[in-house]
Amino acid sequence: MGKIIGITGGIASGKSTVTNFLRQQGFQVVDADAVVHQLQKPGGRLFEALVQHFGQEIILENGELNRPLLARRIFSNPQEQEWSRLTQGEIIREELATLRNQLAQTEVVFFMDIPLLFEQDYASWFDETWLVYVDRDVQVERLMKRDHLSQDEAESRLAAQWPLENKKDLASHVLDNNGNQNQLLTQVRILLEGGR
Ligand code: ADP
Repeated sequence: MGKIIGITGGIASGKSTVTNFLRQQGFQVVDADAVVHQLQKPGGRLFEALVQHFGQEIILENGELNRPLLARRIFSNPQEQEWSRLTQGEIIREELATLRNQLAQTEVVFFMDIPLLFEQDYASWFDETWLVYVDRDVQVERLMKRDHLSQDEAESRLAAQWPLENKKDLASHVLDNNGNQNQLLTQVRILLEGGR
């Protein structure tokens, strides 16, 4: 029997560190953020839906989305925010479902990295869910360092997501990334050896 494993966590909790390792081991990993990015490129389904709704003014001269303008239009208006959440959420879900169904044809075990796996209610798709967990102070520190942010900026990005603490009870497996990267990958190896 095949197995589909969902990987989640928070911003800078170590998801990419885990998925890079899994790819090195030869596993297929769907990266939900990369899928969204692709869909928002000119001609992509999200791009088309956004332009149809907000008009041509959200397109830059180079043909890409004017993200700052789009963000202002969406976040200044609760109705637009709701429209965006529902419409984009639906399209992303369809695309991820297509990828999942394709991989299920060829892979015995594969992974999907979905940062908002619990927030967006994807848990039922998976046989296992792995949470890449870090304590909040470590998360803020790594986020500041990786994205060159001030403490305030890092804190405000975290405020938009559920605290990782809340996701611990929802995940079937918790990977503790408060230690070094080797300690994290050792936990991944143990899980990979465990069920198969
Ligand atoms: P995510 O994909 O969840 O946003 P990353 O895997 O990019 O997180 O990790 C966030 C940052 O923290 C990266 O710069 C990464 O190199 C670093 N990092 C990840 N795990 C560790 C660790 N155990 N020790 C030190 N730095 C780490």
